[in-house]
Amino acid sequence: MSDQRLPSVDELDVSGKRVLVRCDLNVPLNDGVIGDDMRIRAALPTLRALLDKGARLVVCSHLGRPQGRVDEGLRLAPVGARLSELLEREMTIVADVVGAEAVEACASDAEVVLLENLRFEPGEEANDPDFVGALSSLADAYVNDAFGASHRAHASIVGPPGRLPSAAGHLLHDEVAKLERLLHEPDRPYVAVLGGAKVSDKLDVIGNLLDRVDAICIGGAMAFTLLVAQGSDVGRSLVEDDRVDDVRGMLARAEDEGVAIHLPTDVVAAQEEGSPHETVALADIGDRMGVDIGPTTIGEFAQTIIGARTVLWNGPMGIFEIADYSAGTLAIATAIAEATAEGAFTVAGGGDSAAALKSFDMTGAVSHLSTGGGASLEFLEGKDLPGVTALSKATDTKKGRA
Ligand code: ADP
Ligand code: MG
Repeated sequence: MSDQRLPSVDELDVSGKRVLVRCDLNVPLNDGVIGDDMRIRAALPTLRALLDKGARLVVCSHLGRPQGRVDEGLRLAPVGARLSELLEREMTIVADVVGAEAVEACASDAEVVLLENLRFEPGEEANDPDFVGALSSLADAYVNDAFGASHRAHASIVGPPGRLPSAAGHLLHDEVAKLERLLHEPDRPYVAVLGGAKVSDKLDVIGNLLDRVDAICIGGAMAFTLLVAQGSDVGRSLVEDDRVDDVRGMLARAEDEGVAIHLPTDVVAAQEEGSPHETVALADIGDRMGVDIGPTTIGEFAQTIIGARTVLWNGPMGIFEIADYSAGTLAIATAIAEATAEGAFTVAGGGDSAAALKSFDMTGAVSHLSTGGGASLEFLEGKDLPGVTALSKATDTKKGRA
């Protein structure tokens, strides 16, 4: 990954050209109302830079999972309206992806065209060459700025670089640069803080981090599978029984590598999600489930975090969506904010971790808040992202360079 050089949008000759920009505008949408518009805002710097250089734009994105069919609830129009407002430009929003309306708008002198939801077309997820051809023929150059979708080998991500002069947008560039810092020569001590629902989602990340980090603090539901692997009783907490063996292997490797694994020693316990809670030592959990980390655990994790020079955080410490169970996640976010203020390089990734920071009004707590959940995890697992590989391999970029 580290030797892949991403062609930059700054090097692309775009003046007077129509540029296809793949963004990740996949925002939460409820009855046509946009929840959090972080992803739309994150797309602005690249779009503005291209417009400043005299390009006309064809913006495209997926939204939700319409599975190759038109889904009226997943049209991009509300997203386009917000984008138009933030960009302070008129936008031509077309009702198809590569159909007659799209072709006509892209051939016109409209400054910004927004295509319909890419996933209305079955060719998008199937990476169908005909669809790639139709999409590429709408523009003279291509920019990928959709970090959050770059772990997918979908048509709009991996196709155009083979056909058009292509480059990475500022968001994609920045995400890759920041996440690379977590994999290559990070300042020490380097601490990973992991949580969330399933240990199975995060085992590959842990595997790739074990020879890089000095310590890992693990909370959330995933901690209980580790505790079971160590022989603890965790009551009715969520456990992935089929992963206990994998986890034992991981713990043995951590010991070999000299990586300290910090696990909860006390928890907030409740009969079930939403029922009354009590903070207890893990040994006293009884038949209850752990829904958050307790104060002793918070103290230990916070001390580890505050002494670090590099921190990666992925996954909440408890069921933070319920206010009574959010104290652990808030305390960890606060400790990370303190580390950041002390000059540590801190990164948060994962959709729910980002949602937690937003709900605490603490998005500024980290040096970098990744816009890509799955994409940042795959990157940290050490996998090449198809979108990044396609751009690095694109042989045609020179044609379009200034
Ligand atoms: P991210 O999106 O940041 O990677 P995950 O998707 O892995 O995080 O996990 C987030 C979910 O984990 C949240 O919905 C949260 O409620 C849940 N969770 C965290 N701790 C627990 C717990 N102790 N018991 C049950 N669910 C938990
Ligand atoms: Mg999640």
